Amino acid sequence: MTDPLFHGLTESQQQAVAHVDGPLLVLAGPGSGKTRVVTHRIAHMLQSGVYSSQIVALTFTNKAAEEMRSRVERLAPQSTVWISTFHRFCARLLRNYSNLVGLDSNYTIYDTSDSLQILKRALQTEEISTSHATPEKIARAISWAKNNMVLPERYEADSASAISAIVRDVYPEYQRQLRAANAVDFDDMLMLVAQMLQENEELRAALDERFRYILVDEYQDTNLVQYLLVRSLSQQFPNLGVTGDPDQSIYGWRGANLNNILDFEKDFQRVNVVRLEQNFRSTPNILAVADHLIGHNKRRKKKSLFTELPAGQPVRLLTYATSHEEAQAIATRIAAQVAQGKRRPRDFAIFYRVNALSRAYEEALRQQGIPYMIVSGVEFYHRKEIKDVLAYAMLMNNPRDDVAFSRIVNTPTRGIGKSTILKLQVHALDHGISMMEAAREAGMIESLSKRAAVAVAKFVALFDRISLKINEPVEEILGAILTESSYRAQFENSEDEDDLTRLENIEELLSSAREFDIQHPEDGTLEQYLEDKALVNETDEFDTELDRVTLMTLHAAKGLEFPWVFIVAVEQGLLPHERSKDSDAQLEEERRLLFVGITRAQEELELSTANQRDFRGRRQMTVPSNFLFELPREEMDFQAQLGRPVAISREDWDAVHDIPEDDFSQVGESGDFSSDSPSESGSAYTKMLMTAADMVKGPQSSRPKSDPERF
Ligand code: ATP
Ligand code: MG
Repeated sequence: MTDPLFHGLTESQQQAVAHVDGPLLVLAGPGSGKTRVVTHRIAHMLQSGVYSSQIVALTFTNKAAEEMRSRVERLAPQSTVWISTFHRFCARLLRNYSNLVGLDSNYTIYDTSDSLQILKRALQTEEISTSHATPEKIARAISWAKNNMVLPERYEADSASAISAIVRDVYPEYQRQLRAANAVDFDDMLMLVAQMLQENEELRAALDERFRYILVDEYQDTNLVQYLLVRSLSQQFPNLGVTGDPDQSIYGWRGANLNNILDFEKDFQRVNVVRLEQNFRSTPNILAVADHLIGHNKRRKKKSLFTELPAGQPVRLLTYATSHEEAQAIATRIAAQVAQGKRRPRDFAIFYRVNALSRAYEEALRQQGIPYMIVSGVEFYHRKEIKDVLAYAMLMNNPRDDVAFSRIVNTPTRGIGKSTILKLQVHALDHGISMMEAAREAGMIESLSKRAAVAVAKFVALFDRISLKINEPVEEILGAILTESSYRAQFENSEDEDDLTRLENIEELLSSAREFDIQHPEDGTLEQYLEDKALVNETDEFDTELDRVTLMTLHAAKGLEFPWVFIVAVEQGLLPHERSKDSDAQLEEERRLLFVGITRAQEELELSTANQRDFRGRRQMTVPSNFLFELPREEMDFQAQLGRPVAISREDWDAVHDIPEDDFSQVGESGDFSSDSPSESGSAYTKMLMTAADMVKGPQSSRPKSDPERF
């Protein structure tokens, strides 16, 4: 074909790009051009006369969406295709149809910590003791239910699980309180839209017609709700095109269901299945290692992948005496490569299993003067000062937001104590009103002292004054909040270093608002700005243009590629993660995670372990990951930096490390691995999934997608 859109593509890639109508499944391994196919296909559809407004492309991170948007823009300038994450897509639909699910359009999106406040309140209201399960664990179980489309009234407790009994009791009240605050949690966004589409055939049909062409990249990571969403928008117009690689499914702990991709051909009729077999990313040496490793997973379909690239260097496996030495050696090697002009900092990436490991590498790079970026973007928005300022804005946008109210009513301090806040809360609950409304009635609440009532009234006056600004540009709104509330003043005269940092962060927030105002000169609203900030992802800050070494978790690395990759701390307890040790399915997911990491590398790959690791404030002996014994060792380069023999077998390795079997590296609680849910995947869940799947497919359909363990 002479069309530039097809130029340089393989025959199978061309076949996928040329597909316009009907269901399409592109099933292929890493680096085979799946994402490239999606963007070229969009451009081709536009060229074939499909309107931009009829196409929607869905991905999982803002970065991936942004990347796709700019590639489509290059191929088809001026196109306005809706390319979005699932969450943003649903957030927008929810604004438009909020009334169908009991929300007002100015609803608030709660992050995990805000949702937890509501959950704690709900636990209190229901007088449920949390001695058997922490609120965090209960929250995860609720999230699991929501990802599997289990509405509160349909939740069935599993008699064998204490936590599921708690969930049954608290989930409805949690949901009620969210709605009372005109708020949703992350999972709600997807679940409510799926529910809306199920309950309103007219709306479903209208949106099905409007979004005639739906494309999903990384389809292997969709969960049941996401599956129901795209499926219900592809009934009359089954032009659903999905791309994915089952071997890269790494979000099982968030409810991702591999069956969505494996059963695609059963779900739709006359599916055009395209397999891409040529890898354009990695050297044969890297591919061989990846292939060997993933071959140990039992629940998979075998794929063949070849590359025409030159063999490249052997993959290296290094053992260091300590994690300190590991970090030093990596930083030194990077520095040498850069100094010799062979590589640039941005060619390198360091991947680890959990964020908490990043510090050692960061420090070593800093000492070598190598620029780096740690990709964990949400953290900025979790800082106290940022959450405080945004809470004022959230309350302006949605005065029913009780979490925002509680956060700022006495921040900075204005003489409104805990007991006053509690009394306002009780009054609000008793009268079925929001805390802001209760505050307006402070003078009539008998239990409040005169002084407290006056302080509350002053706060209400302040809030009303700031609220007059709601239609101004966002930077101005935030500026008014900072000045009128004296929030900024409390840090300005301080000598404390931390306060200076807070001021800097606040400035940074103001510049984000300014940027937003510039980008949205006409249509920018506070509501939209807040939505934008609520839906930031870990990888948002990742910038390929910056000449810096990238440090990120293996999860965040999905979809990316780097010339030179280090995967560090490949040790039992970390990779595979300690929490996966009792479940084969989870162990296989950990193996896929390492597979994802390995297949990011284009030319050089180095895996490493350290005999002793400093982690979370403790020094521990480690055991190398069992995964390392599954690699094609004869094809790799082994180097033990221990001044002792090179390890070649498990026994030798243990001898080198001299570690008794029971001295197992215990990894503590990890914020990165919120994965209790699979242990909940017993019979009650099976039942719930059945119900959910039946809802969309009707009772006659018996797709066995109910067993999350089945591949
Ligand atoms: P992953 O599974 O990791 O998401 P992918 O299948 O989506 O990978 P892409 O990211 O689309 O793969 O492509 C991998 C690399 O190969 C990219 O650098 C892309 O530009 C390049 N590539 C894809 N197809 C071709 C081609 N036909 N010719 C040359 N390079 C290609
Ligand atoms: Mg991709």
